[in-house]
Amino acid sequence: MKLKKIKREALRMKFGGCCAFCGDELPARGWHAEEIGEQYIQGGIAAVCTECHSTRGNATPEAFRAMLAEQVERAQRHSSNFRMALRFGLVSQTRAPVKFWYERCSAERSTLLRSTSDPALNNNSAA
Ligand SMILES: [Zn+2]
Repeated sequence: MKLKKIKREALRMKFGGCCAFCGDELPARGWHAEEIGEQYIQGGIAAVCTECHSTRGNATPEAFRAMLAEQVERAQRHSSNFRMALRFGLVSQTRAPVKFWYERCSAERSTLLRSTSDPALNNNSAA
């Protein structure tokens, strides 16, 4: 997706200069502007790192989430290095749900909005 330089920079900074999916810091150049849909993020376009871009392909965010959820099982099946690292406690399996960076950012923002709009938290002069 082609964007003008200023819009592209604003998109890169939308989630703190990080990939909308994995949260890794995006370089100034060498990332992708991808249409992921208004149902996922405001504006529907996300800044995505090259790793997430190539792994996701044309998958929807939900299909990408399902792909990512299989990664540990795949690594256990196909990588003796991973199995050895697991055996020696160098890595651990958490079974945590896949949360994209844009979801974590949104949750943080709404928590901030809730706390700043809560009069009980802002009424410091009452005491
Ligand atoms: Zn990424």
